[in-house]
Amino acid sequence: MKKLEFANNSCKVVSSSASRWLGFRNLQLTSSQDDNIRSTRTQLSSSANSRVGVGRGKGEGIVWPSPNDEIPFWKKELALPSWDVKPEIVEEDEQLIHITHVTAEMAPIAKVGGLGDVVTGLARACLSRGHTVHVMLPFYQCIPKHHVNDLTLITTYDSFHHGSWVQTNAYRGLVSGIPVIFIDPSNHFFKGQNVYGGSYNELEAYLFFSRACLEWMQVTGSQPDIIHVHEWQTGALPLLYWDIYHHLSLKKPRIVLTIHNMEHYGECSKEQLSKCGLDGSVYATIDKAVDDRTIGHNPERLSLLKGGIVYSNAVVTVSPTYLKETLCSGWLSSTLVEHRHKYFGILNGIDTAMWNPSFDFFLPAKFHAQNVEGKRSCKYFVQKGLGLATGEHVLDSTTNIPLVVCITRLVAQKGLHLITRAIKRVEELGGQMIVLGKAPEGHIQREFEGLANLWSEELSHMLYAAADMVLVPSMYEPCGLSQMLGMRYGAVPVVRKTGGLADTVFDMDDHQNQEMANGFVFEGIDEASLDGALDRAFSYFKDKPDEWKNVVRKLMEIDNSWNNTAGKYIEVYDSVRARYY
Ligand code: ADP
Repeated sequence: MKKLEFANNSCKVVSSSASRWLGFRNLQLTSSQDDNIRSTRTQLSSSANSRVGVGRGKGEGIVWPSPNDEIPFWKKELALPSWDVKPEIVEEDEQLIHITHVTAEMAPIAKVGGLGDVVTGLARACLSRGHTVHVMLPFYQCIPKHHVNDLTLITTYDSFHHGSWVQTNAYRGLVSGIPVIFIDPSNHFFKGQNVYGGSYNELEAYLFFSRACLEWMQVTGSQPDIIHVHEWQTGALPLLYWDIYHHLSLKKPRIVLTIHNMEHYGECSKEQLSKCGLDGSVYATIDKAVDDRTIGHNPERLSLLKGGIVYSNAVVTVSPTYLKETLCSGWLSSTLVEHRHKYFGILNGIDTAMWNPSFDFFLPAKFHAQNVEGKRSCKYFVQKGLGLATGEHVLDSTTNIPLVVCITRLVAQKGLHLITRAIKRVEELGGQMIVLGKAPEGHIQREFEGLANLWSEELSHMLYAAADMVLVPSMYEPCGLSQMLGMRYGAVPVVRKTGGLADTVFDMDDHQNQEMANGFVFEGIDEASLDGALDRAFSYFKDKPDEWKNVVRKLMEIDNSWNNTAGKYIEVYDSVRARYY
């Protein structure tokens, strides 16, 4: 991929060229750095708060930012009250159960992608239906402790790793109204500046974590109805449960596994699996955990995800279309077909309390489906802050230029070549494009050099609010939250038809399905397919302004919340839970 060049003001970059800004961007702070920055933020917050409010649809009272601001506009308010919205009991379910999520990610304190959002959103939705919910999370060194309320040490115990017992602390705290148990081993696991990629063996750390969660339940006598595990990181927990802990004192729990992305399958050797106290060689069979692709190789490998599928009572993936896709392709398909009776596709929801444009703390002006005027101010605010607008008033003509945003991890799955192409095509069409992305791999980071390498929750809220269109050109997409968040903030989705994107976005030009029509969809993975969808979206924006406004309103009224889908998880929980034990 060639280095990207931009002419004039057509594209913007949240970029390393703005390196002065990036000095503030590290969300994973050490505690002393964190304290320093927090005090900077506290000083800022009173003046910053005074310029943010409702009724600013025409931009009155907003101080417009500039790319030359010493502190970039998305860093000015970080008290994050919207992250602390307590779940309220809306309507209690008849049968109330106890669910414990065991997970490697949780938004907002340990979020890398959609997994973190889903755990928090689903947990809050179940709490608001009256259920008891806990989340168990590694106590990553990078967790911003000031986002955890009532953090208290509750248990000190030992958990097994590689022939010895590691002293471990369990802390309890509240995050976004959810009780969280943090597991903190006294060894080097989970230390470092990021959730992933620390200088410890990640596989062994998550094997340890899986066992330490069960060990904690065992020593404290906590027996939830459901232990809900997620992804390969906790794929060994069902094996540990059925082959060790169920023979000890844990009798009641049943296990549900959610697969958020089939690409990561937890490759593991027999010896590594043995480190958590299981006999790895026992699982090296086709009906248990062997990675089918390695059969006959020396050595054969195991897959923690496959083991999790085999040993869980129910397996869920995150959209009905992705369920079908995974039954038809990929090496895990034969295992999934064999376990089809317990395999379900449930569309993710979004947390509509945390993502609410009529209250969103990060937005300079609020808006909702009945009054979208504030969206224009949000757009102008972002355009001004990134140097995409030169005028002095929200009615400046740049707010008539279509603004496309793409907010994504910069990995191959997300269609990097199409993102690159879109930047060029949007420019050719006379629009503006903002990419907010973070590349976990150095070579991708370098390819996008000067373009994007930033993770900012705050900026993501502002960009969804500012955008006319949100682009999601993924090669495959198990569910995708970005298109749903974009819609919630009135941005028209332009997406590739795959996985959950196919379940949530329906093409405007499909005349058979006008009732559902809400975006622009393309099928091919080539540039021409993307161009076709962008061209149609731009024509619609320019030629049919009134219809466009109606679409924006319609999008904001679509209910993609957990209210819609948490009930399906409850049904799955209910179908597997032990009535008597
Ligand atoms: P995935 O889980 O594959 O990363 P999803 O669309 O399911 O993709 O979820 C992505 C989540 O991460 C969304 O909430 C999106 O807004 C957020 N996100 C992605 N990249 C960034 C970024 N660079 N900065 C802030 N938020 C981001």
